[in-house]
Amino acid sequence: MKRYCRALIYILVLLMMSLLAGCSGAAFDNDEDEESEYLTDNCMMGRNFSQEIPVYIYGRVIDSCSNETEDGYAVDKSAAEDAAQLYIDDCLAAGFMLTGTVTIEDNTFYTLTDEEYVMYIMDTPALDRMIITVERKDTQCGSDLTGTHTSSDSSVTLSQIGQDGGELYGMGYVVRLRDGRFLVFDGGYKDNSASERIYEEMASQTPEGEDIVIAAWILSHSHNDHCGAYVSFTEKHHTDVTLEKVFYNFGYEEQYTSTSQNYAYYDYVKSMTNTKLYPGMQRVNPHPGQSWDFGGLTITFISSGEVMTGDPMASANSMSLVWIMETDGQKFIFTADSNSENTPYVMKLYPGDTLVCDVLQVAHHGYNSGAMGPEYYEKIDPDFVLWPSGTGNYEKKAVQNLATNRWILDNVDESRIYVARDEVQRFDLPMR
Ligand SMILES: [Zn+2]
Repeated sequence: MKRYCRALIYILVLLMMSLLAGCSGAAFDNDEDEESEYLTDNCMMGRNFSQEIPVYIYGRVIDSCSNETEDGYAVDKSAAEDAAQLYIDDCLAAGFMLTGTVTIEDNTFYTLTDEEYVMYIMDTPALDRMIITVERKDTQCGSDLTGTHTSSDSSVTLSQIGQDGGELYGMGYVVRLRDGRFLVFDGGYKDNSASERIYEEMASQTPEGEDIVIAAWILSHSHNDHCGAYVSFTEKHHTDVTLEKVFYNFGYEEQYTSTSQNYAYYDYVKSMTNTKLYPGMQRVNPHPGQSWDFGGLTITFISSGEVMTGDPMASANSMSLVWIMETDGQKFIFTADSNSENTPYVMKLYPGDTLVCDVLQVAHHGYNSGAMGPEYYEKIDPDFVLWPSGTGNYEKKAVQNLATNRWILDNVDESRIYVARDEVQRFDLPMR
């Protein structure tokens, strides 16, 4: 009996330690795992969602919406200059703890937690609003972010995964971390060879007898040319690899109403990530302002569909996560399928140096993005360019003549523009 008590106390102490380590420690080092049940019925803040979450009274609620893991609100700050502080005070009084504050340029990203929920408040003066999201906490909160996989100290590599056929324009990247694990960004279409290329690329960089461990797979948005390869990879290889985390934030269902044709894949990917095909995998819903450290390589998310909460959105591409990867002093920006809808928000949020990067992933495969004008790339001012498209797509006159792409072709040395074409290109990082 005594032994049972001791075991119980031990488990309790462990539980408390893991909660403390993950949920109240360093700002955005924690990641919130998914909650598979819908919270849709509890959408209105302060009414049904939870009595503990204070009603926002310092301005108008512009919009509120929900997805399967969280509820979100855009609120204006018309009633009070210091609305963020006032509202945070209300939350503290309601039992929340302020567990993280990150400042990027003029934006402040707050994390508040209580026993049940994690609240993120993005105070973004340039957008003249705050965006509040509320997620249910999960018991896995506080698990080890760096993993336990060790291997010989290898160099960091980045592979651009070629997209079959001249006309195709999927996107896929594989990063090998120093500890031998991998990051995968998107992948490519479901029905071409992208997923096999991703598998082969990881296998060829994994020493004989060691397991392939993917520390994180980031899915930028719900389209087939990005998530398809994740789906086919999972169907074929889920028993061949360990996948520790999958990151995606597909935004809110309400934001998709005008683009319902883009919505089918959203459910498909969700079902793939919810089926527990990868034992122990965590689903992470990343938010702007959050970063993760993968053994000296950091990923910082700077935009998601959330920044447009409250505004109409015509394309699911605008949901694209935008992230900055930093390793060995080199900065990469992954724009996924950013377009003329979301890039103005990104530029408003970060008028300073945040966007200035050494390596640019061309937005939306070089398509369409012309509508956003060349200012975005001018701001990023890259030395190297990764262009995720097949040869035929890249060489189209219509693509090359887009003002945005013209800026790249006129300002970046041709030998530093890497088109994915129909191959796998591997770079030792930093790129030189
Ligand atoms: Zn795309």
